Amino acid sequence: METTSKTNFIREIIDADIAAGKFGGRVHTRFPPEPNGYLHIGHATSICLNSGIARDYGGKFNLRFDDTNPSKEEQEYVDSIIEDVKWLGGDFGDRLFYASDYFQQMYDWAVELIKKGKAYVCDLSPEEVRRTRGAPAEPGSESPWRGRSPEENLGLFERMRKGEFPDGARTLRAKIDMAHPNLNMRDPVMYRILHAEHHRQGRAWCIYPMYDWAHGLEDSIEGITHSICTLEFEDHRPLYDWFLDQLGIYHPRQIEFARRTLSNVVTSKRKLLQLVKERHVNGWDDPRMPTVSGIRRRGYTASAIRAFCEEVGITKVPGISDIWVLENAIRNELNLSAPRAMAALRPLKVVLVNYPQDKTEEMEAVNNPEAPEAGKRKVPFCRELYIERDDFMEVPSKKFFRMSPGQEVRLRYAYIVKCEKAVKDAAGNITEVHCSYDPATRGGDAPDGRKIKGTIHWVSARHSFPARVRLYDALFTERDPEDVEEGRDFKESLNPASLEELTAYCEPFLRDAPPGSRFQFERLGYFFSDPKDSAPGAPVFNRTATLRDTWGKLEKKGAGA
Ligand code: ATP
Ligand code: MG
Repeated sequence: METTSKTNFIREIIDADIAAGKFGGRVHTRFPPEPNGYLHIGHATSICLNSGIARDYGGKFNLRFDDTNPSKEEQEYVDSIIEDVKWLGGDFGDRLFYASDYFQQMYDWAVELIKKGKAYVCDLSPEEVRRTRGAPAEPGSESPWRGRSPEENLGLFERMRKGEFPDGARTLRAKIDMAHPNLNMRDPVMYRILHAEHHRQGRAWCIYPMYDWAHGLEDSIEGITHSICTLEFEDHRPLYDWFLDQLGIYHPRQIEFARRTLSNVVTSKRKLLQLVKERHVNGWDDPRMPTVSGIRRRGYTASAIRAFCEEVGITKVPGISDIWVLENAIRNELNLSAPRAMAALRPLKVVLVNYPQDKTEEMEAVNNPEAPEAGKRKVPFCRELYIERDDFMEVPSKKFFRMSPGQEVRLRYAYIVKCEKAVKDAAGNITEVHCSYDPATRGGDAPDGRKIKGTIHWVSARHSFPARVRLYDALFTERDPEDVEEGRDFKESLNPASLEELTAYCEPFLRDAPPGSRFQFERLGYFFSDPKDSAPGAPVFNRTATLRDTWGKLEKKGAGA
């Protein structure tokens, strides 16, 4: 089911363009990632924005790899990006493009600019180019090679392409204005020499276009109408315009919006790569990572991510969204859709001393109280059970109404039981708890109407099975881990307790949970059977989210630090 998104300033601009008949009423957007890492939640915002606009305006959406820099790009990244964009619902149809396929066209256009006297081959080193650029309030100085004739430039540029010069020996620069108030306009480099293997072009090229030269051309070639990008490109727009105007080619409209990041994670690709390489996480798709693949493996649905993007919206003001806003999106969805199950994460054995040794009963449990059509199931019950260790206290604190000696508690869907005593080993550790059950309370209700304050979940010791379960906490304790004092490492605020692995005892039907299924374990949170690590009959569960927001603690810690 497709929905229409709420409006934002970009949609208002598009509405105005359509009303004015600009682009003949066409709407064509794109998402242009550089394949040098996995996509993260910030990219998801951009995908939802661009593909959502194309969908709602009956337009088109392209996926284009901005693969102009050979040194950091890999096929693995290309594959993961395609998978993530599709999964998020970005419908690019057959419009999957690679900027590298335009290299010849870009080269021809560069030749055209050289012929027009608008570009020149410069022999300054990269360092000298930087030094002669000037500062915002101070003009740069002109390159001594700026006056080369178009003929000389054409010859040199051709030789650059043929591979006659080593890396960094020469560049092709636009001839604009070394005193321009916008530094991007001070004879920017268009091509550099780089003898490197390209993931698609192999060794066909040894000169590579710079991002600022390439990007506007790519949008122009594809007939993009609204070229939506993040704020840092605002100052580059005059340069893109200049290139397109000099060439006299089709001109998209660029609109900038603010990046959005998430609290308690980092979203810079360089830092994410560092976490992977240094093994602080188990790969790009570790469920603690803010990557689309990590969030997916955590158990999020694409619709929850879209709901999150919709919720945080699009603005001109950069911001950090609290991670609980993302968690709430998945809770809201799974509360309605996830079947319920019972499991004991930290099991404590309970023996019902007056329950027959070999008897088994089938208790009736509701699959989803939010969805009556999900029906009911039978849960086996017997003399020995596991409950959650936290649900027992030998010496109860004041507001503790769960299991403690002398008290009655309700076992959900089963019986009211009274705790007799805790059994301990020689070291004084509690090994099991003895209770007696009240046979008159089958289903959990007392016929005499006596009040039972606590209800706890359980599994049958004989019928349940052990499963690996992974619980997650914030990857970083700081709200904005990238905001660190100079000389300090962002990894200092990595949360040492971000992953906890347990062996839980689970209700029998979970044994056959297909990889990639979602459940609510009652009172414990939403869980997802890991698609990679689960095996038939041996699911591994990742906790997607707790039932309630547990971020209060962290926030206080972050604020006080
Ligand atoms: P990073 O800074 O993580 O390396 P990037 O911007 O260099 O990201 P690209 O592959 O160039 O990565 O990004 C593709 C598109 O995603 C760009 O159009 C960019 O504007 C957009 N984008 C990247 N990060 C965010 C973000 N945090 N919020 C919104 N859009 C983003
Ligand atoms: Mg970028």
